[in-house]
Amino acid sequence: MKSVDAHLAGILATVRTLAPLEVELERSLGTTLAEEIVAPVPLPPFDNSAMDGYAVQAADVAAVPVTLPVIDDIAAGDDGLRAIGPGHAVRIMTGAPLPAGADTVVPVEWTDGGTASVTISRSAPAGNAVRRAGDDVQAGQVVLPSGTQIGAAQLGIIAGVGRRRVWVRPKPRVVVLSTGAELVEPGTPLGPGQIWDSNSYTLTAAVREAGGDGFRAGTVADDPAVFLDQLDAQLVRADVVITSGGVSMGAYEPVKEALSPLGTVTFEKVAMQPGMPQGFGVVGEDQVPIFALPGNPVSSYVSFMLFVRPALRKMRGLPSGPPETSTAYVVGALRSPEGKRSFLRGVLNDDGTVTPVHRQGSHQLAALAAANCLIVVPETVTEVPSGTPVQVIRI
Ligand code: AMP
Ligand code: MG
Repeated sequence: MKSVDAHLAGILATVRTLAPLEVELERSLGTTLAEEIVAPVPLPPFDNSAMDGYAVQAADVAAVPVTLPVIDDIAAGDDGLRAIGPGHAVRIMTGAPLPAGADTVVPVEWTDGGTASVTISRSAPAGNAVRRAGDDVQAGQVVLPSGTQIGAAQLGIIAGVGRRRVWVRPKPRVVVLSTGAELVEPGTPLGPGQIWDSNSYTLTAAVREAGGDGFRAGTVADDPAVFLDQLDAQLVRADVVITSGGVSMGAYEPVKEALSPLGTVTFEKVAMQPGMPQGFGVVGEDQVPIFALPGNPVSSYVSFMLFVRPALRKMRGLPSGPPETSTAYVVGALRSPEGKRSFLRGVLNDDGTVTPVHRQGSHQLAALAAANCLIVVPETVTEVPSGTPVQVIRI
């Protein structure tokens, strides 16, 4: 059997980082920046007021109370300002440019709020409530390095330096196809021997959680020819394909039967539980990576976390490797098969302990939904006594 690490290494050696693409800023959320973002001008671009109040010369308000004539009113966005001289005040709003001659802003709360003249009851030192040009960003400064993941604030600063379009590594487009003659769509009644397809929903959602663009292509019955047709139809819009089911040792294994003859997809036993049967390779002219995951719902999800998620990170231009683990102390004893790495479902508690869920079957999806981590038990370990430190992967 192949080790989990060797399987992941093979996958990461095969998948390629997606080529950069220039997109409208609105479409960049969740992508990875493929250029450096540089500010063309300082931010703020001009000295402006941080508060609603009065722009004055600090010397005029050194002794208070004092009453000054209000010679002008400046709102945010105003231009063509009059300079102020000694003994003058200008009413000014937050974000409005500071007029020449003024060196401080008295907040309206320190005054009587007058419009013809204003009585100021508290002194403001020079520079009070003034935002200087460039005190956020200098002209020519790199505000985001290449490789940054674009979230809301990152998207905001790209707009804030005036950019409309941006070069990014796009989100990988991932087509999810589940196979199984027993599958019916949720929302329709179950016939004898049928179950509702959950994997295509789980995996599409997992793709989105992992920063990909998931397309659920629905289900295919257990016919290799129909499966190949469907795959062919979907390949045009896929950077990656994920299938579930049809890869084990039984009869009616459409994915294995259809893809094995191509010679570009390998089906192997990986030393792990759940999720032993794994297929991986490339398909089509464009050599699109394909993950043929086992059909049991917990197996396909665990396989996604271990193999697909790191691959998607690489495609997105992010550092990738095995899932991050942390240490927790297991509550209750665990067993694990010799020679296989186990990924048991558990609930990580606030006190640093982890409680395994009761149902650990690879079909027991409700137990997975109740878990928040996978407990990793190494290949060489078969018994884990209560209280032992273990590695966990958050899910
Ligand atoms: P297979 O890998 O096709 O042999 O499927 C293994 C088990 O997983 C069987 O019990 C299937 O009914 C179940 N299974 C396969 N595909 C799905 C799916 N999309 N949703 C829920 N269960 C599935
Ligand atoms: Mg099947």
